[in-house]
Amino acid sequence: MKLNYDAIIIGSGPSGIAAATALKQQGINDIVILERESQPGGVPRHCQHPTFGLLAFKQPMKGSTFVQKILALSADVPVMTNTTVVEIRPEGKLLISSDKGITEIQGKRVLIATGARETPRHPRLVSGLRPQGVLTTGALQQFVYLNRQKPCRNPVIIGSEIVSFSAIWTLRNAGVKAKAMIESQARITANRPLSLVSKLMGVPLHLNTKLVEIGGLERVEYVLVERNGQTERIDCDAVIFTGEFTGEYSLIRKSHLDFIAHSGCPVVDADGRCSDAAYYALGNMLHPADMGDQCYQEGKVIGLAVARDLNDNAESVLNRIPIQHDKHILFTAPTCVNTSAAADPFNLNIRVKHAVSGQVTVKVGNTVLYQGNHRCLPGRRIMLKNVKAELIPLNATEISVSIV
Ligand SMILES: Cc1cc2nc3c(=O)[nH]c(=O)nc-3n(C[C@H](O)[C@H](O)[C@H](O)COP(=O)(O)OP(=O)(O)OC[C@H]3O[C@@H](n4cnc5c(N)ncnc54)[C@H](O)[C@@H]3O)c2cc1C
Repeated sequence: MKLNYDAIIIGSGPSGIAAATALKQQGINDIVILERESQPGGVPRHCQHPTFGLLAFKQPMKGSTFVQKILALSADVPVMTNTTVVEIRPEGKLLISSDKGITEIQGKRVLIATGARETPRHPRLVSGLRPQGVLTTGALQQFVYLNRQKPCRNPVIIGSEIVSFSAIWTLRNAGVKAKAMIESQARITANRPLSLVSKLMGVPLHLNTKLVEIGGLERVEYVLVERNGQTERIDCDAVIFTGEFTGEYSLIRKSHLDFIAHSGCPVVDADGRCSDAAYYALGNMLHPADMGDQCYQEGKVIGLAVARDLNDNAESVLNRIPIQHDKHILFTAPTCVNTSAAADPFNLNIRVKHAVSGQVTVKVGNTVLYQGNHRCLPGRRIMLKNVKAELIPLNATEISVSIV
C-alpha cells in the first residue's frame, strides 16, 4: 500500500472531487481521495431531484447523474473507498481504517472535504421512547434511491427547509404520502413558494407547532405536538428529521487543528487553509448546507490554491486575523483572513440564526471592508462579495461582521 502522497483528499463528494480534478489539471498527479462509503460521490449519489448541474453543466440533472459527470471529468483520480480517516495528525499524517486494518499515511497537503449532516434526533432533545422509524432525509433517500426500499407508510416530517420538501418528494417517489409537516416557526424556513409543494401533494403543513414526544414501543406509533398551548396526537409510523445541518467535524474536534469552540468548524482562511499549513478544509463542512454545484465550484478554487502552494513550495505566512460576528450570525466561511494574501478581495459566506433584514457590515476598527443591505433568512446562503482585504492593516487583530 502506498503510504505517501503529494495531496490526500478526505471525502469524495462534489468538493473533494472538484479539488482533486483541479490538482490534476495543475500537474499534481500524486494524489488520492479517501472515502468511507463503498462508492464515490458523497451525498448527491442518493439525491434524485434534478437540482444539480446548473452551474457546472448549465443544465439540471439528478444528483447521481451529476456525480457520474464530475467523476468523468476527474481524469481517473484514484478513490480508495471503504476507507475511513479516523485521526488527523500533525504534518499531514492520517490514521486510516480499511480492510487492511489501521494504517498511517501522509500527504504533503491534506484536503478535508467531509461534508455536512442533518441533526438527528438525539441532539434535538425530543422526549419519548426510542422506537424504530426515526430517520433523517439523507437516510430516507438512501433507503428509497439506493436500496429501493419503502421505509415507512405514513411518516411525519419535522422541519421546513428546502431539504424537508425534498423529503416529501422522495416519499412520493416511494409511493408514500407524508402525514404532516411540522414547523415550530411562524413561516417555513425555505422560500415561501415551496409551501406549494406540500399543498399540491396534500401534506398538511403545521406552522407554530412543536414536536414534544415520539411514542411507540418497537416502531413509531404517534407523535405529540404542541400548538397554541394545546397538545395533539398525530398517528404515524415514522418521524423524519430534516435539515438543521452541521458540518461533519468529528475528525477536527479531536485533532490538533484550531476550531471554533461552539461549532467544531475548523479555522480557515479564504484559501481554505487550516491552522496547520499542511491542511485545507472545503465544501459543506465549512458552510452547511450549500448546494452541490456551489461546493463543486468551490472545490476547484481550493484545488488551485493547494496546487499553487505545492508548486511554489511557499513558506506559509500565517498571520491570521479572526473574523468575529454578532449574535444574529450563525457562522462565517472563511473564519479568518490571512494577511499575507491581503491584497486579494475575498467572498464571505454567512448564515444567520433567525430572520433578520438590514445592513451587513464587515469592518476592521472603523474601516469598512464591505457594506450592503441583505434580507437574511436562516438556512440560506448569503454571500458578501469582494470584501476589500486590501484595506486590512497588517497589525489588525479582529475583523467584525454585524447586521443592523
Ligand atoms: C439529504 C440531503 C439532500 C440534499 N439535496 C440537495 C439537492 O437536491 N440539490 C443540491 O444541490 N444539493 C443538495 N444537498 C446538498 C449537497 O448534497 C451538498 O452541497 C454536497 O453534497 C456537498 O458536497 P461535499 O463534497 O462538501 O460533501 P458531501 O457530498 O457530504 O461528501 C462528503 C464525503 O466525505 C465522506 N467522509 C466523511 N467523513 C469521512 C471520513 N472520516 N473518512 C473518509 N470519508 C469521509 C462522506 O462519506 C462523503 O462521501 C443535499 C444534502 C443533503 C444532506
